[in-house]
Amino acid sequence: MRELAVVVGTRPEIIKMAPVIRAAEGRFDLHLVHTGQHYDPELSGTFFESLDLPTPDENLAIGSGTQAEQTGQALVGVESMLADRDPAAAIAQGDTNAVLSTALAAAKLPVAFGHVEAGLRSFDRTMPEEVNRVVSDHVADFSFAPTDQAVSHLESEGVTAGVFRTGNTVVDACREHAPLAAEHSTVRSDLGLAGEDYVVATIHRPSNTDDSDRLRAVVDTLDDADAPVVLPAHPRTRSVLDGMGYDPSGSLRLVDPLDYLDFLDLLANARVAVTDSGGIQEEASILEVPCLTVRPNTERPETVEAGVNELVGPETLAPRLEALLTDDAACAAMTGHPDLYGDGRAGERIVDVLAERV
Ligand code: UDP
Repeated sequence: MRELAVVVGTRPEIIKMAPVIRAAEGRFDLHLVHTGQHYDPELSGTFFESLDLPTPDENLAIGSGTQAEQTGQALVGVESMLADRDPAAAIAQGDTNAVLSTALAAAKLPVAFGHVEAGLRSFDRTMPEEVNRVVSDHVADFSFAPTDQAVSHLESEGVTAGVFRTGNTVVDACREHAPLAAEHSTVRSDLGLAGEDYVVATIHRPSNTDDSDRLRAVVDTLDDADAPVVLPAHPRTRSVLDGMGYDPSGSLRLVDPLDYLDFLDLLANARVAVTDSGGIQEEASILEVPCLTVRPNTERPETVEAGVNELVGPETLAPRLEALLTDDAACAAMTGHPDLYGDGRAGERIVDVLAERV
C-alpha cells in the first residue's frame, strides 16, 4: 500500500484531520507525525485517545517558541521524515506553523503536498496564520478547499491546478462526534448548567491576549453577563490572566480546556458562543448556536454573510451579548444555516482524490 504522511501540530488540526485519517485507513499506510506545537496533554495527548485515533508514529517535540523557532524546527524534522520515508504524499490541515513547515519541506524535496482547508483568507497579514495559509496554498499540489469562496480566493491568486472543493472536515467531525457527546458527556451537569441558559466562550488569539487592556475589557464584559459564562482557558490566555492577577467575581467561570466531546456538548447546548477561534465559528454555525466573534475580521466570512456570526470588539460585545441573552427572536435570527461548510463527507472526498492521483 502507498504511504501517506499526515502532519498535525495543534488541537484543531487533530480534530479536523481525524475524519481524513479515518477515511484513509485501509487505503493508505499512514505515517502520523505530531510536531508537538501543542504539548499540554489537555490540548493534544488526550485528543488522540478520545477521538480513537492511532498514536502518532513520531513526535517532533518542537514545543513553544517564536514563529521562526517553531517553523524552523518543524521544517528540519518534517524534511528528514519525508526524505527517509518518501511517501506518496504528505498532508497537513489549516494554518499553523506545522502546515507551513510541511508545505515547504514537501515542495522542495519534492513530495506531493495536500493542503486540507485551503483558500481561507482573513486578508490580514498581521496574523501569522494568514501568512501560513498564503504560502502553503501557493506550493500545494492539492488544495482541498472547503467552500466556493475559498476556491475563488485561490483562483484570484492564480492557484487553479489541483484545486478540489471538498467541504470542510469540521462538519464530518461534528456530525461524527455530536451524538457521542450527547450520549457520554456529563460536562453540563458537572458544571451545574443542565437546563440553564449559559454562554460558552474561548479567547486565545494573540490579538486579544497580547493586549492586556483589550483582554481585560473582554473578560470584564463576560463577567458582567446576565447568564453563566464558561470559558475553557487556553494556556496562553490563562497565563496572561494569571499575570494580571485576574479573578472573576461575577458570571465568568474559567475552567481548564475541555476534552472535545465535552466541548461539543457544551457548545451545542449554549445560548450564545463568544470566541476568537476559527474552528468554533464554524462549529457554532453547524450546531446552530449564535456566535459573537471578538475580532476585526474573519477568514470564515460565510458565517457573517449568513447572519449566524457577528464580528464584535470589546465595546460592542456587551450590548450584543445582552440582546442575545434576553431576546429569543434575536437568537433565532442567528441560526438556521448548518450546511455552510458541507455535507460531512469532506474526509472521504479528500482521500478519494489522493487515492486516484498520487
Ligand atoms: N475545543 C476543545 N476544547 C476546548 C476548546 C475548544 O476541544 O476546551 C475544540 C473546538 O471544538 C474546536 C477546536 O478545539 O474544534 C478549536 O481550536 P482552537 O480554538 O484552539 O483553534 P482555531 O480553530 O482557532 O485554530
